[in-house]
Amino acid sequence: MVFPVPPLSIDAGIRSPVNTMSECNHCGAHVSERFARVFADEHGDIYACPSCSANAGIAEVARQRARRV
Ligand SMILES: [Zn+2]
Repeated sequence: MVFPVPPLSIDAGIRSPVNTMSECNHCGAHVSERFARVFADEHGDIYACPSCSANAGIAEVARQRARRV
């Protein structure tokens, strides 16, 4: 017996393209969607946020951590 593709997965794919609720992978703080879009890597992982790298240069930290993983 062959099951058809579950409609649930199709619906979810359309309604939520990427994770809308983003968290910093480093400290777990919630970050805005815009922030996530800028600093997340291709997997949607965020390695630094204003909470854990306030004045340290977020872009540099994110790039560093992304490269190490
Ligand atoms: Zn953080």
